[in-house]
Amino acid sequence: KEELNIIQGALELRNKTVEDVLTPLNDCFMLTSDAHLDFYTMTDIMQSGFTRIPVYENERSNIVDILFVKDLAFVDPDDCTPLKTITLFYKHPLHCVFNDTKLDSMLEQFKKGKSHLAIVHRVNNEGEGDPFYEVMGIVTLEDVIEEIIKSE
Ligand code: ATP
Ligand code: ATP
Repeated sequence: KEELNIIQGALELRNKTVEDVLTPLNDCFMLTSDAHLDFYTMTDIMQSGFTRIPVYENERSNIVDILFVKDLAFVDPDDCTPLKTITLFYKHPLHCVFNDTKLDSMLEQFKKGKSHLAIVHRVNNEGEGDPFYEVMGIVTLEDVIEEIIKSE
């Protein structure tokens, strides 16, 4: 029965982590912070189909902002507005979580918080150097819901 699957999915949330469901960094559609919102960039954004777009500085693992597509409502591509002008204006907070965050806890955070996207990082202590935070990817409310309603 479908209801049973959904209940089962909900109960499984505590056994799964954001690492199990995230979208890997390499698959993320992102923008570089020095981009300009010209016709080509805006077309790219629209064609990606995503509502929330991480913005990185210098390297993709360095996410510094989130652009919401609705932030573009008053942007004219002819002005070639620097992306920074928009991100500085809206300043959407970044929501970061560790890779071992359980999905039930993630769901609670999404319910409480304003944003439905979080950046997933982990502590990388492999290798010689000091441990550092490494961004693994992004997780959205949709990824958690998907775990609940997927039928096996
Ligand atoms: P919404 O449905 O709220 O309009 P959306 O369609 O942009 O948002 P979600 O529904 O939250 O995105 O997520 C759908 C899937 O796409 C999820 O697996 C999520 O991890 C992934 N995703 C979300 N944003 C991006 C992005 N910028 N780049 C790549 N994958 C993304
Ligand atoms: P985001 O997840 O990107 O913040 P959003 O805030 O625009 O998206 P949803 O997250 O889809 O919208 O919905 C948030 C709440 O607002 C839901 O309760 C939804 O029913 C309600 N809602 C969404 N669009 C409208 C609308 N046009 N008028 C009234 N309520 C709406």
